[in-house]
Amino acid sequence: MNSQELFARSQQVSPGGVHSPVRAFKSVGGTPIFFSSAEGAYLTSVEGKKYIDFCQSFGPNILGHRDPDVQKSVLEILDKAWSFGACEPYSLELAEWMKEQVPFLDKLRFVSSGTEAVMSALRVARAATGRDKILKFDGCYHGHVDSLLVKAGSGLAGEASSDSAGVSEQTAHQTLVTALDDEEAYLKTLNDHKDQIAAVILEPLPANFGLLAQRKEFIDFVVNEAKQRGILVIFDEVISGFRMAFGGMAELLDIKPDLVTYGKVIGGGFPVGCYGGREDLMNLVAPAGRVYQAGTLSANPVGMVAGLTTLKKMKEVQGHKFLKERTERMTSRLNEIFQAHQVPMQVSSQGSLFWIHPKSDKPIRRVDQIPTQHGENFKKFFSECLNEGVYLAPSGYEVGFLSLAHTDEIIDSALEKFSNAAKKVFG
Ligand SMILES: *Cc1c(COP(=O)(O)O)cnc(C)c1O
Repeated sequence: MNSQELFARSQQVSPGGVHSPVRAFKSVGGTPIFFSSAEGAYLTSVEGKKYIDFCQSFGPNILGHRDPDVQKSVLEILDKAWSFGACEPYSLELAEWMKEQVPFLDKLRFVSSGTEAVMSALRVARAATGRDKILKFDGCYHGHVDSLLVKAGSGLAGEASSDSAGVSEQTAHQTLVTALDDEEAYLKTLNDHKDQIAAVILEPLPANFGLLAQRKEFIDFVVNEAKQRGILVIFDEVISGFRMAFGGMAELLDIKPDLVTYGKVIGGGFPVGCYGGREDLMNLVAPAGRVYQAGTLSANPVGMVAGLTTLKKMKEVQGHKFLKERTERMTSRLNEIFQAHQVPMQVSSQGSLFWIHPKSDKPIRRVDQIPTQHGENFKKFFSECLNEGVYLAPSGYEVGFLSLAHTDEIIDSALEKFSNAAKKVFG
């Protein structure tokens, strides 16, 4: 069966034919490709066509698909156990290893997704402060937690309204939304809701609505003003944690958030999330404290060993340094290609993340700075990349991911394909 036939069948059994919305290709058009296998930097479709993969499952595969060392550790654990629902040493090893890398990570709890990690961290923040409201930034994504599926409202300063059907206005009103890169708006929101805000949550490197790299002064300001008011600071490092550096953006920015959330790379391609931080806060979590949080498959041994093997290997080979260098080389070459073919887009990178965005003289730091015609240009480029055999995340607002499996040779080959695609569409 080909992708088209499989998608038709999928639409009969799943909403929109998918199990997570972006996979449906709605913003890039056409039928989503069905993949049957993956290895290193490559995906293979059910039709047998090979693609260089810059999506890498939206980040978890920092070593590439089915890294041989990770595969070995997974095969070994499969011979021992699949799930205990009881105490085991595997999560302890990963927890201790992570704690060693991150100076403010006093205690942590494993869960099964980034969403679950965020949801639990918010609960801890509310319990610790006795306050109800959470402040988030427009352009940051924190998973599909009800109270964070909100957009900036038009009423009171900062007050949010729901951005998804099924989220009650009451729940949405517990969240305040303010703009990135805007100290004044942030201060106004803080002052308008004195003594009501439990926590401010942010992606210290917003990477789920394009790549909206922030000024360090802005992040410092956000953190300092919150701390002065007894508001907890939650860094959502589900995408940046252990990817930008072992200590994530917190390390690069030299900031100690009160709580932090992780996911994606820490599971090495398996479903693992994590929240943690200050000891006094984490001791509020059951059974140590009064904040209930549990999970049948939490700290699943397969994810634990895959995660630990992934992180240890990154350390051993100094992966972050290589990834950053390779990504920078690729993006600067791609920018030359775009220029040569008069493509109205450019590419920016942070560490191993890159984003193809509309041409801009100034850095894009906020959602309202992304020109709206981007979708159309990206759509054409995306389709031609597919023809050439390069798979990008199927939306102009998603970032691209390099993995250690993207060797210089593979990147050169991808650049040639990008160049062909650019010439065809814009040349
Ligand atoms: C991916 C992501 C999430 C959600 O994680 P899931 O595992 O998809 O639930 C939350 N926050 C950030 C910053 C993310 O990148």
